[in-house]
Amino acid sequence: MITLKDPVTKVPLIGPVQAKKLEKLKINTVKDLLYHFPHRYDDFTQIKPLASIRVGEKTTIKAPVTALTQHFTRTRKSYIMATLADDSGSIQAVWWNQPWIKQTLRVGQNYYFSGKVAFFSRKLTLTSPDYELENTETIHTSGIVPIYPEGEGISSKWLRSRTNAVLKILGYKELNETSNQETELDNYPLEFRKKYNLLYLPLALSWIHFPNNFGEVSRARERLAFDELFGLQLKNQHRRQSWENRRATYSLNLEKNKTAIQKFITSLPFTLTNAQKNVTQRISEDLKRNIPMNRLLQGDVGSGKTVVAAAAVYATYLSGYKSLLMAPTEILARQHLRTLSELFKVSAKLKIALLTGSTKPTSHNLQESNLVIGTHALFHSPAELKKVGLIVIDEQHRFGVKQRGKLVDKGIETNKALTPHILSLTATPIPRSIALTVYGDQDLSVINEMPPGRKPVITWLVPGKKRPGALMWVKEQIKRKNHQAFIVCPFIEESEHETLQTVKAAKAEFSRLQKDVFPDLILGLVHGKLKAKEKNEVLVKFRNGELHILVATPVVEVGIDIPKANLMIIEGAERFGLASLHQLRGRIGRSGEQAYCLLFTSTHNPEQNQRLNAMRKYHNGLKLAEIDLEIRGPGELFGTRQHGFWDLKIASLSDLRLIEKTKNAAREYGKIRNI
Ligand code: ADP
Ligand code: MG
Repeated sequence: MITLKDPVTKVPLIGPVQAKKLEKLKINTVKDLLYHFPHRYDDFTQIKPLASIRVGEKTTIKAPVTALTQHFTRTRKSYIMATLADDSGSIQAVWWNQPWIKQTLRVGQNYYFSGKVAFFSRKLTLTSPDYELENTETIHTSGIVPIYPEGEGISSKWLRSRTNAVLKILGYKELNETSNQETELDNYPLEFRKKYNLLYLPLALSWIHFPNNFGEVSRARERLAFDELFGLQLKNQHRRQSWENRRATYSLNLEKNKTAIQKFITSLPFTLTNAQKNVTQRISEDLKRNIPMNRLLQGDVGSGKTVVAAAAVYATYLSGYKSLLMAPTEILARQHLRTLSELFKVSAKLKIALLTGSTKPTSHNLQESNLVIGTHALFHSPAELKKVGLIVIDEQHRFGVKQRGKLVDKGIETNKALTPHILSLTATPIPRSIALTVYGDQDLSVINEMPPGRKPVITWLVPGKKRPGALMWVKEQIKRKNHQAFIVCPFIEESEHETLQTVKAAKAEFSRLQKDVFPDLILGLVHGKLKAKEKNEVLVKFRNGELHILVATPVVEVGIDIPKANLMIIEGAERFGLASLHQLRGRIGRSGEQAYCLLFTSTHNPEQNQRLNAMRKYHNGLKLAEIDLEIRGPGELFGTRQHGFWDLKIASLSDLRLIEKTKNAAREYGKIRNI
């Protein structure tokens, strides 16, 4: 008898050599083997008469071997040729370099053969088909045959036979739908399974490998996908619960401070949008509780998240606590310093300090400050950061989960048992399915409304041959209307992190543009390998209108605010996710004048073009993110990789129906198990 926990070497015919090879496929235990799922199936349910076979198809036939001979080519390659015949006709089969087949096949015996049909010596031929004797158990050549991700020295055929052996030894192959028992083989109680219409786990494992029809495949997949998502939901619930057991550093006495906050809001140079008002209201509710806030605020670029965060900072200040605001880059940190100083100018004399790699305030300043704005340097923040009541994390998707945790811990460290409120800001649109999984442990608020007066950015796709004309048009716009332009270079490698190569390409592009295309304009270049100070200088020049065009690598400019920039060219647009394109595009068109975004592409792939076309049609980040999620999968966009959501084998992060189902189920299960 074997159990799921046993090493694979317990399975008959798996020795140490195969075990080593299986290790590379991350298969160590019997369970791992059963959870190495087929990635597709060959359908051999229809056994064809020989006469109906066509070249190029994969097929299964049943026929006797009528002749069996060994041959050699002129170059002494050996092959075995068999003639197979049924009432309707005959076909031949050929196996290369497998001389033993001559000994294993018997003339006169009936076999199933399955393989691809080609022409060989001008005759219809099955090339190296799998075969199995008729009237034996056939798992390779008839019915629906699973095809697995293979490894070195590990073929689908071999995996199939070992998986089949395990299922048999465990008795899973004898199960049917009535064998839905309350046993340890299934992790859920029977009643729970019934309620959520879940297939008995051992049966699902049997069906996923050896289904009788595709209906069984989809039922098995549903059960196994449920398990995956349910596991995530339980973890989320657990994290959420342990968060709720914490106590907040402070809770806001809203009644006492209401008028002061109101005063701050009326002191602003603009009226808050309704969406901003609602979110601000939600946040002050959060701050009143003695459980720390853990809220993620999503809003398109330019929707005005900063001022909402400022209201929270202000409330924290009124309560006598310090706020930390962490930005992913020094440029952004400086921009926040400027805008927040401006916002607080009228209502209060908040003391603000900047803490970055290049700017270190004195310890006295840190101690005295009500708000510390900084970059990663905050991680190493000195002990002066006492009484932290609120942590705001801007562009939170730019930080790893671990980094975020570290910052929170930092806050806790300074306050012993107490946890600061956490407000995360992101411009990355989050489809509901992602919000419920990847961000399932946080509360989510959305600013779904832009400040008044913004016009949607007109977006064009520009194929290679129209590129020179487009560049000339941009030049004219800059000269005539005194507009400014971004030119965003593509990622050179398949990563959203900036590599040296990307920087190199950006430099080359910069000199080319300056010399050949825009010799009479002033261009600047900014990329991630510049020192913070250098970056800042370029950006200040651009903001002050001393540069016409800013050439930038994709990661640099997140979040920066340049009101007069109304034009954007994005090179290699097909390399970007739609949500990233949308975020880039959000950098322009903030002055109320019509802005234009030109997506330069070189792809002829119709699917890519269709994807990019969505950019012309939609100006809603969420809609675009959903389209991308459908077409490209979650990618790295939503932090899925860091969260380990990559391990999902069957479930899809866009499967909202199943995600909602598992969330509800986890809630109920939590009640049953009291976790
Ligand atoms: P993001 O959400 O991308 O961080 P910001 O907070 O930087 O956006 O806001 C973008 C710009 O819009 C800023 O210049 C800000 O002053 C302005 N803004 C924010 N809210 C409003 C509003 N309700 N009315 C008009 N302008 C606003
Ligand atoms: Mg911002």
